[in-house]
Amino acid sequence: MIRIPANRICMSAFPEQLLNGYRSFMSGRYAHETNRYRELARSGQSPETLIVACCDSRAAPETIFDAGPGELFVVRNVANLVPPYSPDGEYHSTSAALEFAVQSLKVKNIVVMGHGRCGGIRAALSPVAEPLSPGDFIGKWMSLVAPAAEDVSKNTMLTAAERQTALERISIRFSIANLRTFPCVSILEKKERLTLHGAWFDISTGELWIMNPETGDFERPEAE
Ligand SMILES: [Zn+2]
Repeated sequence: MIRIPANRICMSAFPEQLLNGYRSFMSGRYAHETNRYRELARSGQSPETLIVACCDSRAAPETIFDAGPGELFVVRNVANLVPPYSPDGEYHSTSAALEFAVQSLKVKNIVVMGHGRCGGIRAALSPVAEPLSPGDFIGKWMSLVAPAAEDVSKNTMLTAAERQTALERISIRFSIANLRTFPCVSILEKKERLTLHGAWFDISTGELWIMNPETGDFERPEAE
C-alpha cells in the first residue's frame, strides 16, 4: 500500500496519471526487482551502453529495448542529435552526458537512435515555420542539420514522407560523425574499447532498423 504524503494541497496538483503509474511501478517492477534496485543503489551504476535518443514520448529507449534499471545510460534531446566537440565554456548538456558516460562509466557502446515521424526533423525540413518562442531554441538546435535538410529538400523526386525518413537517417550518421570529433570517443574507438552504432525506430510498426557500419545503410536485423 502506497501512502500519499500529508500535504494534499501540493499533491493535488501532481498529475493523477503519474501517481497511478508510480503505484503500479512500486507494486510491480519495484516489488519484483527490489534486490536489484538495492544492489544498484549500493554498488552504483555500470551500464554498458549510452543511448542518444529523441525526447519524443513515443520512442523511449528503455521501453524499446526492454531494459531494466541500471542497464542503459540515456541522454535524450530534440531529434537525438550529437553536436560537434566544442569546448567553448558554454552549456552543453549532451556533451556533458557523453563525457560522463565515456570517461566515468566507461560504456562500451554508444547508440544514436532516431525514429520515424520526428518533429524535430520535420522542423528542420520546414525552416520557414514561425519559431515556437522568441528564443527559437529548436531552430538553433536543428540548424546543426540545416545543410543536410537543405540538400534533402531539393530532391523533388522524393515524397515529403521519404524526405523526412531520409533526413532522420542522415542525422543519425551526422551525429555519429560528430561523436568522433570528441577526442575521448575517437581514442577509445581506435583502441576498440568503444563501438558506435546507429538505429532508427519506426513508431507505427515497431520495427527497429540498424545502421550497417560499413555502408551507413539501415537494415532490419536478422530474425531470431
Ligand atoms: Zn524525434
